[in-house]
Amino acid sequence: MRGNADIVVAIDAGHGGEDPGSIGPTKKYEKHVTLSVSKKLAAQIDAIPGMKAVLTRRGDYFVNLNKRSEIARKNGAHLLVSVHADAFRTPQPRGASVFVLNTRRANTEIARWVENHEQQSELLGGAGEVLAKNTNDRNVSQTLLDLQFSHSQKEGYKVATKILREMGKVAHLHKKEPVNASLAVLKSPDIPSVLVETGFISNPAEERLLTTRSHQDKLARALAKAIVQYFEANPPEGTLFANRGQQRKHTVKRGESLSVIAQKYGSSVSAIKSANNLKSTSLAVGQTW
Ligand SMILES: [Zn+2]
Repeated sequence: MRGNADIVVAIDAGHGGEDPGSIGPTKKYEKHVTLSVSKKLAAQIDAIPGMKAVLTRRGDYFVNLNKRSEIARKNGAHLLVSVHADAFRTPQPRGASVFVLNTRRANTEIARWVENHEQQSELLGGAGEVLAKNTNDRNVSQTLLDLQFSHSQKEGYKVATKILREMGKVAHLHKKEPVNASLAVLKSPDIPSVLVETGFISNPAEERLLTTRSHQDKLARALAKAIVQYFEANPPEGTLFANRGQQRKHTVKRGESLSVIAQKYGSSVSAIKSANNLKSTSLAVGQTW
């Protein structure tokens, strides 16, 4: 499929409003850390051609978990990244971790959604329409949902691995592998999702780091880098990223002019000239670029 759609990354700043999240030893709130890092990450993502960020909240207010995944889904998110900060009852634990949806949780969600036909049609795009017409066939519904969910889980795991690698360069890691979680926030098994714990706000040194602008910048850049790497390797169909990957070499055939070639690729003569560093418009048969 050709197309130049944006890859949509939903960024979910954990907690907010009446829900402060965890509170550090000097009374710094997790909800503020998550919003700052999320906004920085969104800015990074928006600066990349072919990518667009959607924030599930933009200020200090409460958004429930269902609403968060609904925002991601309504915006056609290809990935949901939930940003948090960890806490423990003792000050020692430190470091970042990345959580992915575990199978048991996914299965619970599948079961719940198979009960709810209306929601299914929203869930699966094209497949949802098939489901809507076959609402009495639970096996079909179940199978399609299973397929989609196991795909999302696999993709979530890939993203998580890349995030850990990049975050490990700028922060201490608490867990070096993605952690399987049944956290309620990861309740969109139809969208590949990861939950990033950026560090322990209950650890005095990390509380300071997590509220420092330069460290938040580093975290956001590491997250953006990992997300771009993931989508470069796994571009969704119909997006600019996928299209870029499909750009093949072109060999000039007899009688072909630049304008003919430009038309064939849905491009322009000047775009092709500059993209391929062509100095003149005269072409030699067999010339490849
Ligand atoms: Zn949290």
